[in-house]
Amino acid sequence: MRRHRNIKIVATLGPASSDYDTIRALFEAGADVFRLNMSHGSHEDHRARYDAIRKVETDTGRPIAILADLQGPKLRVGQFTAGAHDLEEGDRFRFDLDAALGDSTRVRLPHPEIFAALEPGSSLLVNDGKIRLRVEECGPDFANCTVRVGGTISDRKGVNVPDVVLPLAALSDKDRSDLEFACELGVDWLALSFVQRPEDMLEARELAKGRAAILAKIEKPAAVRAFAEILKVSDGIMVARGDLGVELPVESVPPIQKRLVRMCRTAAKPVIVATQMLESMIESPVPTRAEVSDVANAIYEGADAVMLSAESAAGSYPFEAVRTMDAVAVEVERGQMYREIMETGRQVEGGTTADSIVAAAREVAENTGVKAICCFTHSGTTALKTSRERPRVPILALTPFTSTARRLCLSWGVNCFMTHGDVSRFKMAVVSAARAARSGGFAQNGENIVVVAGVPFNIPGSTNILRVAPCDEKLIFNTDPE
Ligand code: ATP
Ligand code: MG
Ligand code: MG
Repeated sequence: MRRHRNIKIVATLGPASSDYDTIRALFEAGADVFRLNMSHGSHEDHRARYDAIRKVETDTGRPIAILADLQGPKLRVGQFTAGAHDLEEGDRFRFDLDAALGDSTRVRLPHPEIFAALEPGSSLLVNDGKIRLRVEECGPDFANCTVRVGGTISDRKGVNVPDVVLPLAALSDKDRSDLEFACELGVDWLALSFVQRPEDMLEARELAKGRAAILAKIEKPAAVRAFAEILKVSDGIMVARGDLGVELPVESVPPIQKRLVRMCRTAAKPVIVATQMLESMIESPVPTRAEVSDVANAIYEGADAVMLSAESAAGSYPFEAVRTMDAVAVEVERGQMYREIMETGRQVEGGTTADSIVAAAREVAENTGVKAICCFTHSGTTALKTSRERPRVPILALTPFTSTARRLCLSWGVNCFMTHGDVSRFKMAVVSAARAARSGGFAQNGENIVVVAGVPFNIPGSTNILRVAPCDEKLIFNTDPE
């Protein structure tokens, strides 16, 4: 199944999207990566979703990436008898440590450290800052508040206390156990929330032991300040605008997003733009103009992926939300303006043989009507470098490793194919690239592809060959060297 866009779509799974049929339909509508949010649901729920995604992968024959998002030191309210309550301006509302389910007058906030730090007059923000309360009286185990901006409060919504500095460890005990669970399950990506320092990433890396790639969620002012250092020790980045827009003035988020996206592209690491992209589609089958513009803007910035949160996890219109992102991407990417922006934004860090070869492959492909750039990759690095070029022609990544194919599903423009059998000989590699290009609908007999590879095969980091080849096996057999 071929996508007609380069940017990828990440869809969060939740109560609205848990069974095989729904996940398959989301994949067919355009979701390339599925996100399991460890903040919600049990390990058994996540395992069931994981198994369903893998079954879709087997049934469709296309690699799919699974991203487990670790909650991190996020502060959250407990649960409610009725699941949700509307709070109106002027209402009184209490947060406390009582384990009983919440109602319209109170809820549990299981964080004594917040109560210790609050003072009358402090602000408490709920659900990415949508609901705002002022603390009137507080003690070591409660805070009585007045609602200043109302909204619906529901189970396990996030809480921010912007006026207060809390001591936060990067990984809680729950995160450690979720990380181990997710790695054992076999997820491809881990996302670490509330990263503040490069050391936070290194700690997670040590625990993951290479079983999953790890991306840093940028949602704290400290992470924005230390971004260059964090990027160096991350495999990817998520611009997590929900908490970012609460922790920092909301108007500072767009320039930060632009800067982070650009730095990630230069470093050839995938970057996801996340949160509230199509927020109104939680309840409405059509987006607002502003939301469509936000998605389009992330695409013009050159992001690798755009993400759906509650829209696909808990909304009434998950398919419409995915289809909207897909349609916006197709439309933006076919415009001349988009091409010009991608081309002027090209900046390459490095200057290795592989960097030069993929740049040459792009030039050859774009200037000579070649149908696809096919790169052989072990760790995925060659494919990431090809993706950084943002070429006009499709990129096919061919790899013997399922884990590499799945991780690359997050990267701009990369179509992943598994190589089977013997590709240790160059001729066979070219044949398998041609087959992949034909089977994926990228090229036909009579057309050409560009093959990028490292010879001898099986030595990572040795990209040294660029070959323009016909997409026709007979011609390859007759003309190619061993
Ligand atoms: P984060 O800070 O990690 O983004 P979040 O609470 O904002 O956490 P999202 O995944 O961004 O979570 O949004 C999904 C929303 O869908 C949640 O706020 C929650 O209300 C709802 N939801 C309920 N159950 C789940 C689930 N199992 N997985 C994901 N979301 C769920
Ligand atoms: Mg968050
Ligand atoms: Mg969120």
